Amino acid sequence: MTTDTSVIIIGAGPAGLIAARRLEELNISYILLSRESTPGIDKACGGYVPSRSLEEFNLENIPGAYPIKSIRMKFPGLEVKKVGFENPVGVNVSREKLGRMLLSSIPQSTGEIWLDTECNWIEVSKDSCTIQYTKENIRESISCQILIDASGANPASQRTSIVRERPPNDQLGYAVQYQMKCKESLPGTNDFFYGSEFSPRGYAWNFPRDRETVVGTGGLVNKVRESERRAFDYLNHLINDVEPISRELETVGAEIVKKEAALMPLAGIVSPSYGNRILLSGDAACHCSPISGEGIHYSMIGGLKAAQTAARCLKNGDFSNRALSHYEREWTKAFGSDLKWGLWLQKRFLESGSSSIGSTFLSSDKSTRVIAEMLAGVRSVRSTILAAAPGYLLSKIRRK
Ligand SMILES: Cc1cc2nc3c(=O)[nH]c(=O)nc-3n(C[C@H](O)[C@H](O)[C@H](O)COP(=O)(O)OP(=O)(O)OC[C@H]3O[C@@H](n4cnc5c(N)ncnc54)[C@H](O)[C@@H]3O)c2cc1C
Repeated sequence: MTTDTSVIIIGAGPAGLIAARRLEELNISYILLSRESTPGIDKACGGYVPSRSLEEFNLENIPGAYPIKSIRMKFPGLEVKKVGFENPVGVNVSREKLGRMLLSSIPQSTGEIWLDTECNWIEVSKDSCTIQYTKENIRESISCQILIDASGANPASQRTSIVRERPPNDQLGYAVQYQMKCKESLPGTNDFFYGSEFSPRGYAWNFPRDRETVVGTGGLVNKVRESERRAFDYLNHLINDVEPISRELETVGAEIVKKEAALMPLAGIVSPSYGNRILLSGDAACHCSPISGEGIHYSMIGGLKAAQTAARCLKNGDFSNRALSHYEREWTKAFGSDLKWGLWLQKRFLESGSSSIGSTFLSSDKSTRVIAEMLAGVRSVRSTILAAAPGYLLSKIRRK
């Protein structure tokens, strides 16, 4: 059957844009559509991107990228600890600037990118996939051979449960953030503050970008709902009362310029990530760290793998679920271990009760450094657990 294009991508986040970039390289026709006017402009995000992603995806010159050279952490019952690195471990970026840079790296010669376009409905038949979309108040439809749904934590394909249903509330995170402007520059240190003082059983962060910073907090949706304090109450406490963050923000004259809230998947490995001619990519596939909520790196790898699997299916003329399952094998190989062990560690953090987190995992300076490396994206989750956990845990992990 003739379709309008080979591949449709929904969403111009890191997953969708990297998928489009890869399809260009593979000379495959596609249409990417996304609802916002500029990629990333509406996205609530801390914007931390580890150095390995910048290198891997050729993103070394994002305008305004702010190098991060230390990680500061607070665990319940323990003092604030800071771990410095010789070289930057990553950068904090504005999501709009990241989006613009990714967009400008796509020549749009084999495909087209339609912004200000909303996907309303997806239908799959034996021979094709059709979406209905709205652009400038006009409703139209287009068809493709295979679709990459990269539309974020609340994906378009979920409306019809065409691939799978929404993860339950104990696997989804809810986060709130303040974007703040400062009169002076803040140091290149990312803060991770864990414990019930700072969040409804999750963590709070402060990710500076020179004279701006993003301060946020979040937790699993069910815990946020059970909590007696509103999520923004935790955040106000962080910026007003918690040392050294409150003092530093006051010193640089930080002012709130925007309030944001968003969902993030914190579910570990979720399967299936494919079905009915559709591949889920990025947050839509729950490709997000269950410990830190960071997903830009995984989204870009997932977008790349989705584009490659789509190309393979097109080449072989095989869109069966068996052919699509190649994608899940590929991303599991690339970062499944981080999601699996990230969920394991998240559960230990939540189950073990606030005070034993620190004593179990932060018993020495070596463990502190290892955890900082993991939060900075320098070290895998599994190798962190192996390096930081005490002997009785090691034997358990090695058996799995
Ligand atoms: C508060 C917060 C802070 C975070 N901080 C960090 C961080 O510091 N570092 C990090 O690595 N990760 C962070 N994350 C996670 C990170 O933002 C996501 O993992 C990442 O953006 C996922 O990329 P994506 O391309 O899958 O989806 P998104 O970036 O969410 O992009 C989805 C796209 O789909 C579009 N879309 C959605 N529905 C439709 C529709 N029906 N029709 C058309 N278009 C549609 C959206 O407009 C958007 O362009 C944070 C998340 C949150 C919520």
